[in-house]
Amino acid sequence: MPDDLYVLYRGPLASCNYDCPYCPFAKRVDPPELLRADRADLERFAGWVEATTDRRLSVLFTPWGEGLTRSWYRDTIVRLSHLPHVARVAIQTNLAARVSFLSEADNRVAALWATYHPGQVSRDRFLDRCRELDDLGIRYSVGVVGLPAHHDEAVALRAALPPSVYVWINAAEGHVYTSDEEARWTALDPRFGDSVRPHPSLGLPCHAGETAISVLGDGTVRRCHFIPTPLGNLYDDSWRSALRPRPCTNNLCDCHIGYVHLKPLALRDVYTEGLLERIPAAWPTT
Ligand code: SF4
Ligand code: SF4
Repeated sequence: MPDDLYVLYRGPLASCNYDCPYCPFAKRVDPPELLRADRADLERFAGWVEATTDRRLSVLFTPWGEGLTRSWYRDTIVRLSHLPHVARVAIQTNLAARVSFLSEADNRVAALWATYHPGQVSRDRFLDRCRELDDLGIRYSVGVVGLPAHHDEAVALRAALPPSVYVWINAAEGHVYTSDEEARWTALDPRFGDSVRPHPSLGLPCHAGETAISVLGDGTVRRCHFIPTPLGNLYDDSWRSALRPRPCTNNLCDCHIGYVHLKPLALRDVYTEGLLERIPAAWPTT
């Protein structure tokens, strides 16, 4: 659709109930005033989504920490899922929180990008959550960070999930994969090749800043999470005139939520309606 706009939202929330050794937000606690600000910012953003009916909006919440343990993220997902001009509302989550709230959401619109963190939760408990999502008819992908120590768990997770669930593997930051390792992870996720090496992006055309934007809690609009230059603000409408085709100004793009918009990769054609929750259109492949 020509009026599609993909919106990645990240408020100030930066706390998490898990303690992943590879994460700067592990077990971080937000002070009450920050949580209040996060809640107020999200409420304002939800109001903007509600009022912006001239675009077909797809929203992905990408909190630094975990959002679904907070009632305001759960309530906002339910609320936005019922808006006729919202095609998708999704969130990146560790799936620690109960998911029964999604019974109130429109399951054609609400979706989850779930990450399994071995060592933080048992596989059985994580799989129970996935089964709850299946029962609710909620779209979701499941992923694992491709650290060598995670491989056995990732294999077991893949085997336990229905073939209809896409399991993605993210290349671990700073880890250089041998061709054998790459093949082992690709056997689990046929699209691992997209993640295993950063994409050279300098000067290449990218949808970010044209039909995709990144929004901070205060309404600052940037083209993506990885280029800090503001394009305008969501709440004074200045973002509208700022949207246009433009080349990437970073050397590399190495995060899925960025490079899915890099035009030469044509990943919008791969994911189509599942772009934000990371489910390829042709999944399952057999
Ligand atoms: S669940 Fe996510 S945000 Fe929380 S500690 Fe692990 S990687 Fe960080
Ligand atoms: S290629 Fe990546 S870093 Fe460059 S503009 Fe697009 S999303 Fe941003």
